[in-house]
Amino acid sequence: MTRIPTMAENQHNPAPRVWLETYGCQMNVADSQLVTAVLRRAGYTPAARPDDADVILLNTCAIREHAEERVLRRLGELARFKRTRPALRLGLLGCMAQHNRAALIEKAPWLDLVAGPDAYRRLPEMLGAQSFDPAVDVRLNRAETYGDIAPEYACGVRAYVTAMRGCDKFCAFCVVPYVRGRERSVAPEDILREARQLAERGVREIVLLGQTVNAYRHGATDFAALLSALARVDGVERIRFTSPHPADMTAGLVATMAAEPKIQPYLHLPAQSGSNRILAAMDRGYTVEAYLELVARLRAAIPELALSTDIIVGFHGETDEDFRATVGLMRTVGYDSAFTFKYSVREHTRAFRLGDSVSEAEKSRRLAEVIALQEAISLERYRALIGREFPVLVEGPARRGAGRLAGKTPQFKTAIFPGRPEIAPGATVRVRVESATAHSLICALA
Ligand code: SF4
Repeated sequence: MTRIPTMAENQHNPAPRVWLETYGCQMNVADSQLVTAVLRRAGYTPAARPDDADVILLNTCAIREHAEERVLRRLGELARFKRTRPALRLGLLGCMAQHNRAALIEKAPWLDLVAGPDAYRRLPEMLGAQSFDPAVDVRLNRAETYGDIAPEYACGVRAYVTAMRGCDKFCAFCVVPYVRGRERSVAPEDILREARQLAERGVREIVLLGQTVNAYRHGATDFAALLSALARVDGVERIRFTSPHPADMTAGLVATMAAEPKIQPYLHLPAQSGSNRILAAMDRGYTVEAYLELVARLRAAIPELALSTDIIVGFHGETDEDFRATVGLMRTVGYDSAFTFKYSVREHTRAFRLGDSVSEAEKSRRLAEVIALQEAISLERYRALIGREFPVLVEGPARRGAGRLAGKTPQFKTAIFPGRPEIAPGATVRVRVESATAHSLICALA
């Protein structure tokens, strides 16, 4: 088979072009930026279109079955490019590559490369290999943090910086510990160096990322200490993090959030269920009472705090009573927004053996109910802000409405407001809320 020469090997050939598509969560987006940096170091450049590329990579997600089907469909579409250009390399990266490589290679035999989340450093070597059979590297590496590689961040006022990788929690429904491996934290000096460089390039907001980001620990530095150190970086105006685990929200972390003005008053606090029976079956490590007590402590310490959450409906064994408890929790907390999902059984997880007792139709009914409930709660909470003023970090033109700009309030709510020539992305402007939908605040400049 013909292999793609790297630039170092052949200065006269144009740099090979890579088309990279990303599926799934923010961690995958950050990993794609890392992969882009790894490949650029090796002489590859981004392609403008897939049909223009020498290498096509899909960075995938294994969390939901639906995501796998979508990626397989896309692989089928991309395979047609290989018919006319056999030298094209087609590769699969990410959680799905890690989770289901054997089945995937069987279903998509035209794949040239399969690399798990800890194998990205080896991508140039794998792409340069003489034979593709395909090239597979899905070894998990307890030490890999990629801390020394600066990802290629998208331009913008906000950057997502990986603080820790993997997860040790092993919730019964979740594949993450199996596909992303065990917890490991990036050295604080690497994170701070990256933050300084980003601030110099005009980034104003840093979002620290990790599967259970508040489990961060590197030597003597815990997550609260990392946040405090990040707050001292000049040019970084706003700090957020996602996703914390409720069981790791220590008193010290809550106190740091309350004391440090750069840490924004918004927290995504996954609850998953409002039933203690289901939380225990999920192995979430907290009860509803403990969760509510944490919410009360957070709101007492940070009165302006906005909260969002993840909810799974239809977990194995979830009765109507359990589901009503989840509805009750959503009403009690009054989340600003929620990501709601139907339970989907994932192979290799501990819940896989339990089964899937709730019918698809019932899951759909429960999902529709929590979506409608959250819409109503969000609308109420957004409308309650009419008349209030907020500082908004300007991101750029609003998607709808010519001449309007969009940005985020400290509570991570989208604010839409009239533009003015002197207001550029990265500026912070004061706005007054005039009306609201369940997803955005329509504002005037204050
Ligand atoms: S905390 Fe649980 S749900 Fe979150 S990544 Fe870890 S195992 Fe998955």
